[in-house]
Amino acid sequence: MRRSSTVSILSSTQTGHPPITVTQPHLPPLEEFLPYLEKIWNSKVLTNGGPFHKQFESALADYLGVPHVSLFTNATIALVTALQALRISGEVITTPYSFVATAHSLLWNGIKPVFVDIDPHTYNMDPQKIEAAITPNTTAIMPVHCYGRPCDTEAIQRIADDYNLKIIYDAAHAFGVQHHGQSVLNAGDMSILSFHATKVFNTFEGGAIICQDARTKQHIDHLKNFGFVNEVTVVAAGINGKMSEFNAALGLLQLKHMPAVLERRAQIDAIYRDRLGQVDGVEVPQWPAHDRLNWSYFPIRIKPHFGLSRDELYEELKRLGIAGRRYFYPLISEFPMYRGLPSAQMSMLPHATEASREVICLPQYPGLQDADVHRVCDSIEAAATQVKAMPLAA
Ligand SMILES: *Cc1c(COP(=O)(O)O)cnc(C)c1O
Repeated sequence: MRRSSTVSILSSTQTGHPPITVTQPHLPPLEEFLPYLEKIWNSKVLTNGGPFHKQFESALADYLGVPHVSLFTNATIALVTALQALRISGEVITTPYSFVATAHSLLWNGIKPVFVDIDPHTYNMDPQKIEAAITPNTTAIMPVHCYGRPCDTEAIQRIADDYNLKIIYDAAHAFGVQHHGQSVLNAGDMSILSFHATKVFNTFEGGAIICQDARTKQHIDHLKNFGFVNEVTVVAAGINGKMSEFNAALGLLQLKHMPAVLERRAQIDAIYRDRLGQVDGVEVPQWPAHDRLNWSYFPIRIKPHFGLSRDELYEELKRLGIAGRRYFYPLISEFPMYRGLPSAQMSMLPHATEASREVICLPQYPGLQDADVHRVCDSIEAAATQVKAMPLAA
């Protein structure tokens, strides 16, 4: 019998509590969105860089504190396009501890991913492991600001400068994050944002490339529109990566709500840290004090002395109607299209492997009530207490 099934806590149906999901998209009040829809219906401009697209691009650049934004249909197409725009080929150094789209964007460009291990405290690519992974075929580094925590952008830039490599940040988690007083999205050559429903800021689906000069933005804008420069001129084998007016209008409206969204997320983060920081065997994130974060995720680590394994806790929470997420598990390097690579071997990635076995992301979204947060904490505490009180099997 599985040990966790002997923990005698009532299930959510027995307790009558409604289930708690791991995330829930923030949506503005519908009546606020209706005027935007009326404008779209009246103008019949649905896409191809219409008025909402233009407004949202410039409002977003202002909000984020970045020079240039190119809106996209989603972050995955934006990642694929960023690699095309910089003509990246050969090998790219990246992290196995991410969502699978990070590495998939490389395969879609015929590029070989080279995985390096993470720093176990930040979950970001360990800059000290990068140099050993560089070969004559390396052309770029693709790090991820995992859970919205800024990478060591200075160290990564120094290595890129020394070896003449480009840097493309997968910044899907890093909307609005500031590092040393400025947007982390200005680090490296390009940064890619995701506005997927599950992210801190959503446009239903959507994404963007942040770049640093107007010529590069123009090139990206051509690439996302099939390579069209004008009605009769196609300069590259571009793709259709355009964001529609519907998504851009929603984004424009969502921006107004961001201060309240971030404030609520910070409150939830504080409750979790306060309560779970006391629980033996649970490690809460230690966010850097000098950076402005976005509280996009609340990853905790379940250490062996907690009593239950991470997977046992995950199942126990599920039984109680609380959805956690084993994010990121499995590692990208464990999926069949990657696991044959020499850099994908687990012995090369001890910290990423351990994190993927120990981390569980707890529910975190502005619609979560204080009582829900406390119920999650109570459930984790109770699971630990009860398993420790159990006599060992003879
Ligand atoms: C969500 C996510 C993506 C993919 O974003 P989409 O907009 O869904 O394509 C890529 N990388 C990371 C790290 C993500 O979390």
